[in-house]
Amino acid sequence: MRQGEFRRSLERSWHMAQEQVRIFDTTLRDGEQAPGFSLRPAEKIQLARQLDALGVDVIEAGYPIASSAEADAVRRIATEIRRPIIACLARCHPADLERAAWAIEPAAQGRIHTFIATSDLHLQAKLRISREQCLEAAVDGVRFARRHTSDVQFSAEDATRSDIDFLCRVVEAVIKAGATTINLPDTVGYSTPDETLEFFTLIRTRVPNADKVVFSTHCHDDLGLAVANSLAAVQGGARQVECTINGIGERAGNAALEEVVMAFNVRPDRIPYSTSVVTKLLYPSSEMLTKLTGQPVQVNKAIVGRNAFAHEAGIHQDGVLKDRRTYEIMSAADVGAPWNPLVLGKHSGRHAVQKRCAALGFAFEGDELIGIYRALMVIADDRKTIEDADIIKVVRSMRPELVAVGEAADAAEVPAHPVAAMHESGYGHGV
Ligand code: MN
Repeated sequence: MRQGEFRRSLERSWHMAQEQVRIFDTTLRDGEQAPGFSLRPAEKIQLARQLDALGVDVIEAGYPIASSAEADAVRRIATEIRRPIIACLARCHPADLERAAWAIEPAAQGRIHTFIATSDLHLQAKLRISREQCLEAAVDGVRFARRHTSDVQFSAEDATRSDIDFLCRVVEAVIKAGATTINLPDTVGYSTPDETLEFFTLIRTRVPNADKVVFSTHCHDDLGLAVANSLAAVQGGARQVECTINGIGERAGNAALEEVVMAFNVRPDRIPYSTSVVTKLLYPSSEMLTKLTGQPVQVNKAIVGRNAFAHEAGIHQDGVLKDRRTYEIMSAADVGAPWNPLVLGKHSGRHAVQKRCAALGFAFEGDELIGIYRALMVIADDRKTIEDADIIKVVRSMRPELVAVGEAADAAEVPAHPVAAMHESGYGHGV
């Protein structure tokens, strides 16, 4: 069997062995409640339509008790968006739960997501109640929610900092009361991946009837470990991952949906799970969120950052032009992102300059290419990147007959005597 065939057959067998992990998107709840990310009702609905197209399994549409406009927006999403489960958040209080039940009432599949903190720190410092009162409130909340829908999710807020014996008692009791999904959030982003794997494994092993419910993970990124912890939770038996587009959310944010999905996608050999997300819509979804909130993602953000599929360093440009796989583990097209292997700057090499010139209709080789390259590198020393207009201007100064009059009027001045660039093959960073 040839190597390519062998790999394809391996991929097929991984695919067959893959268990499905549900993607629970909380961009419209945890994401939206972060400072600077609030959305108008019409914007929430626009984004909910995009999440539907993206293929997420559950949309957490909001926190209805927060305001009447929020409750209305959740209800409108529940009315309009028919394929995914529409969830909304409620504390274990009758007023919250009633509002939540009203908001999801029109849904094809509605879920009430109720929560209470279980860590001693939260019980004592924030809620000022005893463990027994917490247990009672959790059970009452789940029972109340079950009267309105058969799909009830319970979250033990600050689960990862809770006493494990008490947490197991709460989880056992809410399963008995009718919860169908048990979410164990790392509310403050404190856990490590190995700890998360042990935590899920232990709870699923110890709690009676754990196999009757779906366990869920909800990780925050305070230590930059949200995605790693989410994957570890799946390895520990969680089958629902709560995440957000661009990783937005409280403080440092939640696990980024696009990173979780592509980790499963790129590494089925180590984490053989599939999701129903349409990966080609990851970048367009990220872009829509950025436009609606006015909050950009960092340029080097995995999957959706401007530089995620861009190359300026000569060694890298030369590599990806020969074979994309030399410096890329997934293709931009797979996530719907623009591919930009020819960003020209001071780290670029002649190969990239030649390709960019060719794209503009100029074929240069040998000494002529070196001349153009040197002139561009002088401009690059002074600038972050070189634009097409700069190339046209340089070409006009050296081969005026190739350029139509009027092009590239506002490009940089071409130096009269370009000095030799230090590294004509382009250097950049090899590792
Ligand atoms: Mn959260």
